[in-house]
Amino acid sequence: MLLLYAMQAEADPFIEVLGLERRESCWHPFRVYSGRDYEGHELTVMTSGIDEFYSVDNVATQNAAVMAAMGIKTYQPHVVINAGTAGGFKACGAKIGEVFIGNNFVYHDRRIPIPGFSSFGIGGFQFSPPAEFCSEFRKAVITTGNSLDITANERRVLMELAKGYVVVKEMEATAIAEMCFQARVPLIAIKAITDLVDGERCSQDEFMQNLQLASHSLQGAVACALRHISNGLVRQITQARNHWLVDVILALFAEK
Ligand code: SAH
Repeated sequence: MLLLYAMQAEADPFIEVLGLERRESCWHPFRVYSGRDYEGHELTVMTSGIDEFYSVDNVATQNAAVMAAMGIKTYQPHVVINAGTAGGFKACGAKIGEVFIGNNFVYHDRRIPIPGFSSFGIGGFQFSPPAEFCSEFRKAVITTGNSLDITANERRVLMELAKGYVVVKEMEATAIAEMCFQARVPLIAIKAITDLVDGERCSQDEFMQNLQLASHSLQGAVACALRHISNGLVRQITQARNHWLVDVILALFAEK
């Protein structure tokens, strides 16, 4: 089992509670920890590490994709778990600290208006956990982009999407889904809400204020996921491309 976190603050409560030990890294600057979970299963945790120059976490898609690819190649996990924080939507009834499990993964900032490439740009990966898996957490479309903030047009599209689907917005999961899909390794993505995209406050202030609280809910949710995970469950996670969702998002971007 391989757990991937973008931010050290998101991972620390989990690393501490399980007493995981730091290991030599398979790729500078990622940090690697290993040990056993509550059931005694071996697990490896990776965080994307700290930027040498700016001293902040290496968030966003580039490091997430490389971390997933290097982690899968090095540790050969039977399942990848991506745990992190995300922006929720009041329109979907999301609350700060609420935890969601991703079942569909798209990009909202990869627009490539050339036939074929436009669909590719949205991505569209589906990893469906069984309905009874952590049933206290809602299932959501995770939309990934390389910005914490949002352009007016992206906001319009995501607000429309949020009328028909439960949506959460963050900066890594779809990049990880893309690598897991290519490697045919099942993915479980668990996201705790730090801020509300359609709330009154700006994401960065709300994010900083709620990061600790959300990281705490996240740790509880990851513990729940680990208790449920068995080989039987992992085999039930189906992988597919979700062209229908890609088409919905492309149609929303086409509207002005
Ligand atoms: N100022 C913060 C910035 C972290 S970037 C800091 O350095 O402490 C935000 C991280 O939280 C990313 O890993 C992203 O996946 C997640 N995230 C939380 N809320 C988000 C939102 N509304 N939009 C995009 N990413 C969000």
